[in-house]
Amino acid sequence: MTDLPLLTWGLVVAALVLGILAGHFGWGRRWPASLKQLHPDYLAGLDYLVTEQPDRALDMFLKLMDANADTIETHFALGSLYRRRGEVERAIRIHQNLLARDALATEHREQALLALAQDYLCAGLLDRAEGLFQQVSEVPRLRASALDALRLVYERQHDWQQALGAHRQLARIKAAPPRVVAAHYLCELATLAIESDDNVEARRLLREARDEVRQFPRAALLRAQIAERDAQPELAIRLLRQALAESPELLQDELPHLLKLVEPQARDAVLSDLVAQAASRGFGELKRFVFAAIAANLAGAAPLRASIEAVISQDATLQAVWRADPAQYDRTAHEIGALLAHAEKYRCNECGYSGRSFYWHCPACHSWDSFETHAIVKLR
Ligand SMILES: [Zn+2]
Repeated sequence: MTDLPLLTWGLVVAALVLGILAGHFGWGRRWPASLKQLHPDYLAGLDYLVTEQPDRALDMFLKLMDANADTIETHFALGSLYRRRGEVERAIRIHQNLLARDALATEHREQALLALAQDYLCAGLLDRAEGLFQQVSEVPRLRASALDALRLVYERQHDWQQALGAHRQLARIKAAPPRVVAAHYLCELATLAIESDDNVEARRLLREARDEVRQFPRAALLRAQIAERDAQPELAIRLLRQALAESPELLQDELPHLLKLVEPQARDAVLSDLVAQAASRGFGELKRFVFAAIAANLAGAAPLRASIEAVISQDATLQAVWRADPAQYDRTAHEIGALLAHAEKYRCNECGYSGRSFYWHCPACHSWDSFETHAIVKLR
């Protein structure tokens, strides 16, 4: 919506307003034969749209809008269009304008409250959004929408307990998002418990997360963290390997961590296992593993050498570096490692946000589990 050209956007708004006027003047299905029949205020509004004065256009249209049963859906459509276009203040004006009308039917008042709460959420006015969503969640017909939005408000506020509560309420009315979302809330709470040295509570929360999703790499990582603190390196290694097998995106951050826990004499055996596991999943996974290994300064490890050569010689981007000096394996691997150290490592597959840190919850679009490895080396 946001990249609609101005003219198209103007036409969409004009079509909606024409709909309002059709109701307003009782035209029904008979549309005016010519523009001469249109109300002068409508033409003035269109003129403002064309001359890029959207606020004056909206003033004019709001003046014309008689919120009766025939035109009400058009008000909501226009408000929703403005919100989706990022023009939240205008959406708020439309919904507040509706709510200011004494004659508004109860169901329309409730719908307008929900729409206004969504505007506030978009505008980042979380406290106002929360209050309205709570109010609307009492309306059975709108309960699922309001609770789900409330859940998003709590996510933005990092109030994971409340977010979990909203998820549980949604589950009771069979309108919950996937259980993995509840597992993430439990992991957020477990992280807080670990930070305040409450390992008993953290373990309880992680067991609850496992009840939501059996194979959940984030919970395995956190349990590994607790095991490491409790001086149980064998358990920590097993849990880390489990997390890496389930979620190879974690390799870049967790491979060096895993190898620190492994005894030096066992390192080559672990690397051989990991490289075989990656290769068995296809060339893409092998490449991901090799990049993580190079970034972790493991290019010299004997069990990896053949795989690193195979990846470097086949990757289109790396060919240039490789061709320059294939004989000097170590130097080439080191240079690639230096490039990887400055490359963006992760990207959100929902919104394209990228960076060098991994997130379970995208900071830009707020999707869960949307981060992927993005180890594209940018040659200077
Ligand atoms: Zn995103």
